Order: sequence, then structure tokens, then C-alpha cells
Amino acid sequence: MRMALNLAKKGLGKTSPNPMVGAVIVKNKKIAGKGFHKKYGRPHAEVDALGKAGRKAYGATLYVNLEPCCFYGKTPPCTEAIIKSGIKKVVCATYDPNSKVRGKGIKKLMEKKIEVKMGILEKEAKKLNEVYFKFIRHKLPFVNLLLNLSLDGKIVSPRRSSGSFEFQRFLKKLNTEVDGVLVDSNEAKNLIWFFKREKGKPRLFIVDKQKKDVINLLHNLAKDNILSLLVRGGKEILTPLLKNKLVDKIYLFFTFEIFGKGEQPFGELGVFQVSDSVYLEGIRVKKLSDGFLLSGYPVGRR
Ligand SMILES: [Zn+2]
Repeated sequence: MRMALNLAKKGLGKTSPNPMVGAVIVKNKKIAGKGFHKKYGRPHAEVDALGKAGRKAYGATLYVNLEPCCFYGKTPPCTEAIIKSGIKKVVCATYDPNSKVRGKGIKKLMEKKIEVKMGILEKEAKKLNEVYFKFIRHKLPFVNLLLNLSLDGKIVSPRRSSGSFEFQRFLKKLNTEVDGVLVDSNEAKNLIWFFKREKGKPRLFIVDKQKKDVINLLHNLAKDNILSLLVRGGKEILTPLLKNKLVDKIYLFFTFEIFGKGEQPFGELGVFQVSDSVYLEGIRVKKLSDGFLLSGYPVGRR
């Protein structure tokens, strides 16, 4: 299963609006075939792996990190291909929250007397597809905030800092992983030095600083198949997102500078006592040569 998860990761940034899926076929303790979902519209992981295994799939076990699909989308259902191949057992990390599947894929397999085992490395599998799970459940994009801050928590602007090379590199990497980038009109001016798109991805949305109805804005982006969003900007856009519990993940990139005066990233969040504050969990910290990166998930989010 661990191998299936690692295979799935290879599709990062290319499968949306589909989830990332990897599959491994094992027969007589040997790998008979492996595959992953490479790109939206291309074959699913199960079909990719079955194709590699060929006749060896007969009587074998299939490991896959998400419940196989059972409907006609861009490609025929994977359950059909699995049944046809003669696979004896399917080991699955987690169910697919999509209402077209959600248990129906598993049921189809069991009806054909295929043994099914669920819940292997489930936590890891859900984390891997956290964007997909959030989108399906809440019809909202998975919102990432990325802030470049001085040590004393002020927004780093190109005017005041030499700029971090590693921050730029990280930003470019994040750009390739999300469906959309949302910036305020102020940040838009700085786009030239950080924003590089390939084949029109990610899509760029520039929002007026005075825009208040962020919930409506995110719902509209979701309707537009934006599953994951990276938000860049000042407190006019960051504050309402955080206040309305619409932020899923925060990346704080600190430089080793102290500014004193400067622009704060967040405004009034309605914090009056300790228990009101936005708390980050699942913290990860990475030290870099010209700063450090801290990431975490705000607690109490939707
Ligand atoms: Zn499928």
C-alpha cells in the first residue's frame, strides 16, 4: 500500500479534478504490475496497473489507495476492468467520498466474489488526497495561504527585503500543485517576479481588495472546478478568509529579518481570549539557508 501511495503522489498537480491514485498488483509475493493516474482524462491507476500485469493479474491481489470507481466518466469504470481481469482480492486504503462511488465500487466487487479489505493506511491515504476530500465534502476549494514574513511577523515586500531565493522556489513549486492562485490587486503588481505558468495552469484570479463576500467567491471557484487554491495578498483578503474558517492550510515563510514597522498579515479576527485564537496543528518546520518554513492546519476549520 505504501508503494501505491508513493505512486499516486507522482500525479501531484496533474490529476485535478480527479484524486491522486496509485495501484500495485501482487502475485505470489511478487509485483506483477504497478501504475498510477498520470493526468486527468488518462487511464486510472487500476487500469494502468492491470495493463502492465496482463494475464498475471488472474488470481492476484490489487492494492489501491482509493476505492475503485464504478461509473462511466472520461474512462470506463475500474470495477469492470478489475472483475474482467480475474483479480482475486482488492486491498483498499479508503472509500471514495464522491456520491457516484461511496461504497458502490466495493459492493460491485464483492458481488462478483472478489475479497475486499478496507482501511489499510487510511489516514495517510486521506491526507494524500486532502484536497479532493475537502472539495467533495464541502463543495469548496482547499485553501492554502502562503505568507512571506519577517521574524517580527510583518509582510515581506520586494521593496524592503532582498527576497529569499528559497521562498521563490517554494512558491513556484506550490504554483504547479494548485488549480488556482488568488491574489489581491496589490499583490498582482508583484506577479512578474514570482508567477510562472505552464500550459495555463494554475489559473489566476485577481480579487478586488474591497471584496467582502469571500464565501460566495470560493463557492464560485469550486463551481469552476478549482479544487485547490493558493492565496497571496495582504490583510484585506487574508483576514476574512481566516475569520470565516475558510483556510485549510497555512504556510509561513519567515526570513531572518526584523522590520519593526510594517504591514501585518491579519487584521481583526475577533480574538478576545486565548480560546478564540486560531491554533495551528500538524505543524511542520523546515529550516532553509535564508529563512524557515512553517506549515500547519488551522483548527476549527470547515
Ligand atoms: Zn477508476
